[in-house]
Amino acid sequence: MRAPHGQNRRMNDTREHIEKLTDALRRAGIRVTRQRAAILEVLADAQDHPDAPELHSRANAIAPGISLSTVYRTLSTLETQGVIQRHQFDGASARFEPAETDHHDHMIDVETGKVIEFCNDRIEKLQAEIAAELGYEIVHHRMELYVRKTGQG
Ligand SMILES: [Zn+2]
Repeated sequence: MRAPHGQNRRMNDTREHIEKLTDALRRAGIRVTRQRAAILEVLADAQDHPDAPELHSRANAIAPGISLSTVYRTLSTLETQGVIQRHQFDGASARFEPAETDHHDHMIDVETGKVIEFCNDRIEKLQAEIAAELGYEIVHHRMELYVRKTGQG
């Protein structure tokens, strides 16, 4: 049974994530300036799949003077290094999250743009069964449900 994806599941992992992201920049030969460190910090801390402009404004609150293009270049390097994941949800700008989280799928609230994470053992199993019936095994999958609040809950 998987652990539920609570709001604070990444809280204790933040420092570790920052280190991984920092190592990735160094591997790519990029100097980790105070400004880039701020980008890594907000990225590791984010639990809401922020887009680049949102990361930009959060990072600027820590280290003023960061340009949006620095944010884009840093994100692109981190993505190439495989330490962050880019999500291109319909009708929205690309959003980012650390790559090394437990597998989960996403629901996108079409009215607010809010991204809700979920993982469902029945769906995971069903996907594997469907693939197996057709003679395949799943290497990777991505599921996005576009949703609207019903007024209940
Ligand atoms: Zn996610």
